[in-house]
Amino acid sequence: MRPTHLLLALALSLATLPSHAANPRFSLVKTSQTETLDAFTYEGGSWTDKVKVNHTAVLIQHHAATLLFDTGLGRQVDSQFEEMPAWDKPLLQYGAVTPARNRLDRDGIKVDRILLSHVHWDHASALVDFPEVPVWAPYEDIEFSHISTPPAVLPSQFKHKVLWRPYVLEPEAFMGFSQSLDLFGDGSLVLVSLSGHTPGSVGLFLTLDDGRRFFFTGDASWRLEGFTGPHEKFWFSRNMVDNDREKTANVLQTVHDLVQTHPQLTIVPAHDAAVQDTLGYYPHWVQ
Ligand SMILES: [Zn+2]
Repeated sequence: MRPTHLLLALALSLATLPSHAANPRFSLVKTSQTETLDAFTYEGGSWTDKVKVNHTAVLIQHHAATLLFDTGLGRQVDSQFEEMPAWDKPLLQYGAVTPARNRLDRDGIKVDRILLSHVHWDHASALVDFPEVPVWAPYEDIEFSHISTPPAVLPSQFKHKVLWRPYVLEPEAFMGFSQSLDLFGDGSLVLVSLSGHTPGSVGLFLTLDDGRRFFFTGDASWRLEGFTGPHEKFWFSRNMVDNDREKTANVLQTVHDLVQTHPQLTIVPAHDAAVQDTLGYYPHWVQ
């Protein structure tokens, strides 16, 4: 190949790379939003104030792969939700849905891997929209998806062939957690166990090039206040969704302690719209 052709080929190959310098970067894909009483979200919340609740998929671009951390609500959520017991439906209502797959397809973004904070219906609803994408989860939560029942898990969410990629955390301490999994070996994306809300709940630390660090905490708490308190969920909600109350409380305390020693750390609970509003939403990138 002549040098000019070589340069042209190189330029074309570079042009097909994601047009970003920052590594990693993330964008919050808000698939739905609703409103609920503050008091329903954490113990001690207000009985008069309302708060916004998001269903968000976290889109992450790393040099090595494009990932989703949770899927938000998907194309089939309405039919999935029909499996929800009538008495649970009022508390778990959601607003208008814009599935992540629709938006990512429109923008030509291909997801290589899905990671789940846990297998609850509102985090795994859209797995069926990405049937070709491997889904990473700890053995404990894959097992939980098989044995759990509504309102935690809706069977139709997993009726397609899920390409499960089970993993185990390694005995490597990270940020106050005794076990972790460094996804790409560069410390930018590190999973830790938040077991309690479900047996295989995990949190994800994401560190940007400039050192800013974010901690996606799934549903250990629905609100930032759950960690700053710490406060458990409202007793009725807690009984409905927390698989192990004591372990969940321990997680709250661990993250509470972490916030004291690392005040610069940004905690991002999966449903906390107040926190997520400050970060902005897809197509805005945090980088
Ligand atoms: Zn949950």
